[in-house]
Amino acid sequence: MCADRKEQQEQIDKYREVIPDAYLNIYDKAIKRTSRVAAVKAKCLDCTNWQRAEVRLCAVFSCPLWAYRPYQNVRESKKVSKRTTLKENLL
Ligand code: SF4
Repeated sequence: MCADRKEQQEQIDKYREVIPDAYLNIYDKAIKRTSRVAAVKAKCLDCTNWQRAEVRLCAVFSCPLWAYRPYQNVRESKKVSKRTTLKENLL
C-alpha cells in the first residue's frame, strides 16, 4: 500500500470510530464510491453531528447540497428518528 493510500485508510479508520453505528453503512457506501446518494447523506449527517432531524431542518440555503439533502420527508424522518432514538437508548 502506498503512503497516500495508507494515510487515507488511516484517516477513514479513525473517522469511522466517531460515527454512530447506525450510520456506518451509509458512510462506507460513500467512501467505497458505491452510492452518490449515500455520499450526500453522509456529508449532511457529518455536518449536523449525525442528527437526522437537523439535516431536515437545515437552513443553510446557500449550501450546494441543500436541495439534495436527505430526510426532507417529515413522515420518513419521524419514523427514522424513532428508530434511531431506540437504538441510541440501547447504547
Ligand atoms: S445541506 Fe445543510 S446539512 Fe447538508 S451539508 Fe449543507 S449545510 Fe450541512
